[in-house]
Amino acid sequence: MERIYTIDGVRKASLAAKTKGQRVAFVSTMGALHKGHLSLVTLARDHADVVIASVFLNPTHFAEGEDYDRYPRQADEDCRLLEGAGCDIAWIPPVEDIYPFGVGEHVRVHFDRLGAYLCGKTRPHFFEGVTTIVLKEFIAVVPDVALFGEKDFQQLVVCRGLVKDLSLPIEIVAGPTIREDDGLAFSSRNTYLTAEERARAPALFQSLQLVKQGLIPQTANFADLANAARQKIGSAGMTVDYFELVHPETLDPATESDPVVVAAGAAFLGATRLIDNVTIDRSL
Ligand code: AMP
Repeated sequence: MERIYTIDGVRKASLAAKTKGQRVAFVSTMGALHKGHLSLVTLARDHADVVIASVFLNPTHFAEGEDYDRYPRQADEDCRLLEGAGCDIAWIPPVEDIYPFGVGEHVRVHFDRLGAYLCGKTRPHFFEGVTTIVLKEFIAVVPDVALFGEKDFQQLVVCRGLVKDLSLPIEIVAGPTIREDDGLAFSSRNTYLTAEERARAPALFQSLQLVKQGLIPQTANFADLANAARQKIGSAGMTVDYFELVHPETLDPATESDPVVVAAGAAFLGATRLIDNVTIDRSL
């Protein structure tokens, strides 16, 4: 696996592959890689000849007081993991390359509508960080296909919207959420949890399962189910940030007549904010 540090370098490598008629896949990551990230690299192999993954802890994802400073940084270990998963190129740009005018002085890509829901309500800066970095990465890598995890469902929908709105010739492929045996979704932030918190963390996934079971009957009452889920999360000592049932494409509040519904929740466990979701096909 090749390690590339510059925008110019990654673009040249990508265009060289494309000139040979090869298809290029891109997986955007913030590093601190785990099985969820690596599953996207594996999936990327099914969609392309060359797989490029970024390892870039994007400062504009984080607001003042959030966990940018303590977010795990382990670029060498990440490269080892990427190579093991079959990645061809790890692109590890320095912050100055991505933000040559400085963080805060950069072009901002703001996608109002979808970014105002769910995580966007309590982290209003967040999706501007996502759309800005993803577009910058797309311009550098020029991929044919980009893979995003369903774990960050809203991010996936926002990136689909970005590509559609800007008519970018990039296919977006979603990868399923990869979980620990007890249901907790892999997340770089799980490393923040104490052993005692880690034992309570699966309650978020369990609350989603509760809703899934309850949602299948056509008679389900959405508000009651969401409240039951909030209680389940609360009874595990977690503080609910939000728990909502939404439409899978618009992220509008789901209605009882929607055949497919996404249940999405975010909760604080101590100082750690966890998010998770499940897509529920009510016709099954
Ligand atoms: P991040 O490094 O957190 O920005 O995540 C990079 C990519 O990995 C995003 O597309 C995430 O949705 C995806 N991802 C993170 N955790 C998981 C997981 N547990 N399962 C599948 N994909 C994931």
